[in-house]
Amino acid sequence: MTSRAAKEGDYRFGYVALVGRPNVGKSTLLNRILGQKLSIVTPKPQTTRQRIAGIKTTERGQVVYLDTPGIHATAGRALNRYMNRVAKATFRDVELILFLIEAGRWTRQDRRIAEALKKAGPPVYLVVNKVDMLADKKELLAFLAELDLAKDFDAVFLVSALKGDGVEDVEQRVLDELPFSRPFYDEQQITDRSERFLAAELLREALTLRLHQELPYALTVEIEQFKREKGLLNVAAIVWVERDSQKQIVIGKGGSALKQVGAAARRAMEDLFAEKVFLQTWVKVSKDWTRSERSLERFGYDE
Ligand code: GDP
Ligand code: MG
Repeated sequence: MTSRAAKEGDYRFGYVALVGRPNVGKSTLLNRILGQKLSIVTPKPQTTRQRIAGIKTTERGQVVYLDTPGIHATAGRALNRYMNRVAKATFRDVELILFLIEAGRWTRQDRRIAEALKKAGPPVYLVVNKVDMLADKKELLAFLAELDLAKDFDAVFLVSALKGDGVEDVEQRVLDELPFSRPFYDEQQITDRSERFLAAELLREALTLRLHQELPYALTVEIEQFKREKGLLNVAAIVWVERDSQKQIVIGKGGSALKQVGAAARRAMEDLFAEKVFLQTWVKVSKDWTRSERSLERFGYDE
């Protein structure tokens, strides 16, 4: 049998939530831990809309990291309210919370989340991310001393999710915190999400990276077809936007924007699924879908 079976009594398993305001690097950290791009990352806030689990299986244990949508101050739109509900529901289901902030920045929103986490129940580790952006280590130490955050958390880590610095330490300490248990998932499985979902996310990532600031929020992706035949993965996707003017932007002059985006998304799908992909995309209008609870359900934003 494997070495794991020999030490089964020592094996650990549990759920860990990645929490923090938009853009602090939660998805980047998850991808770093898993060693592959599972959760989409862009420089724009509000990229992650739905909870996604990344499963890391090692000799010592199996950890399910839950990447949550950032918590939003402006809860006006149905989509924002949805994202807040998902983030908060996650607190109740986990053994441990990793609270991410950015090195050198402590905002009002960070403070509000920290307050909420005190009442959440599970232990909270503070993960100060993006330390690579503060070249001067003295500055970093001054930042930490000034905030005096250490007293409020069960542990503090300094990491760069982008470069990988400090991430292994976090992973080891997380395992110490989890209960002894058999693994729950197959060791091959890296996520709880379907391949269809991952394909839609990769296309949404490509669109978000290509298009300017306002638009990405107004679009969502629906996978119409996901079929393997003759050694090819056939994916047909609809990009839904809220207005005709947005449709024009997504398509671009003579279809150039959509073509580029499609090519980037296809490459990302080929990387993730390790097979050849044929991707077709259409753009359609669903008026004001981000404001309607019913449209959210239709596009898969369900609890
Ligand atoms: P999320 O909204 O919390 O999931 O944040 P993302 O993972 O999407 O990251 C937001 C932005 O911060 C992206 O442009 C990332 O490349 C960047 N980022 C994440 N981690 C790091 C880091 O350790 N260092 C630097 N310099 N940038 C990072
Ligand atoms: Mg994210």
